[in-house]
Amino acid sequence: MSPTKEYALLCLENPLLALGQIWPRGDNAILAEEKHLGIYEDLLNNYSAKLIAGGGAQNTARGAQYMLPPNSVVYLGGVGDDKYAAILHDAVKQAGLRVEYRVDKKEKTGRCGVVITGHHRSMVTDLGAANHYDLDHLKSPEVWKLVEGATHYFVGGYHLTVCPPAIMALAEEAAKNDKPFVFSLSAPFIPIAFKDALDATAPYWDYVIGNESEALSYAEAHGLETKDIKEIAKHLAALPKANKKRERVAIITQGTDPTVVATNGEVNEHAVHAINPSQITDTTGAGDAFAAGFTAGLVAGAPLAQCVDQGQWLAKLSIQELGPSFPFPKQTY
Ligand code: ADP
Ligand code: MG
Ligand code: MG
Repeated sequence: MSPTKEYALLCLENPLLALGQIWPRGDNAILAEEKHLGIYEDLLNNYSAKLIAGGGAQNTARGAQYMLPPNSVVYLGGVGDDKYAAILHDAVKQAGLRVEYRVDKKEKTGRCGVVITGHHRSMVTDLGAANHYDLDHLKSPEVWKLVEGATHYFVGGYHLTVCPPAIMALAEEAAKNDKPFVFSLSAPFIPIAFKDALDATAPYWDYVIGNESEALSYAEAHGLETKDIKEIAKHLAALPKANKKRERVAIITQGTDPTVVATNGEVNEHAVHAINPSQITDTTGAGDAFAAGFTAGLVAGAPLAQCVDQGQWLAKLSIQELGPSFPFPKQTY
């Protein structure tokens, strides 16, 4: 594998301080209302909640850094000027991840309370300052220098709810310089509620990653008359492309079922790394961990099949931890 450039991988999305707590019962995911906002302080002060530098692409950025040489990954997003941001800084420092956060003086850092009950989870999210990321931050000279220095970009689809112009700026930069642009579909509501913004990014996807529910919701939102994951993956791979020097690859994960990979009109399946269910702690963010291992492979110049295998390997490690986390002492692929 080729040596990695410093900060070769630049990631963008919505940073959240995730507070994870094992709990007797529950299974739900909601956006925080006023009455729920007490949960974060409660988890912080009255429980031994695990503090995680969360948000989909920040999980992916930590995971990719886990597999790559030191100083390989930088992550961008918006936070507040508060103790939650300080906790995030501590957490990413431990992970060896460089962050360049846009700091909002008025908004609180985004938080996500995660309560785990057996194989179920309940989540309550307050995006806060993550919702205020802007193009000015991305285009600021220090940050844009990192953009220019990177060889690969990873954008999480949740950022479509925040700042599509920042995504488009990265996408265009990638195509112009023939750098791989990796995009995660992130959640089933994205292709439905943010269809136009998503479609604007589609020509720039060199790699598009999603799970089966995201693939199905993409198909539904776009009137594809199929529920066949392989057909949907083929369709995604064949969408018009801005950078014609690279064939697009569409990757659809399916939990314990094989990962579907479509490119060049062909579809392949890759079995996942099996794990005894008793070893699973929390499957939250398995897809983020998969994307991390996969993208780390791309950055290191690994062949496609190995990138997929690295993704499955890292996801298997992650689901044995609480939240999308990676074990220390470090394991090597
Ligand atoms: P998401 O977290 O986005 O829903 P998936 O559930 O498809 O994504 O999981 C992503 C990847 O994580 C899978 O392709 C697989 O490699 C791994 N994974 C998830 N759940 C399991 C499991 N129970 N056993 C082994 N691997 C798993
Ligand atoms: Mg899943
Ligand atoms: Mg996912």
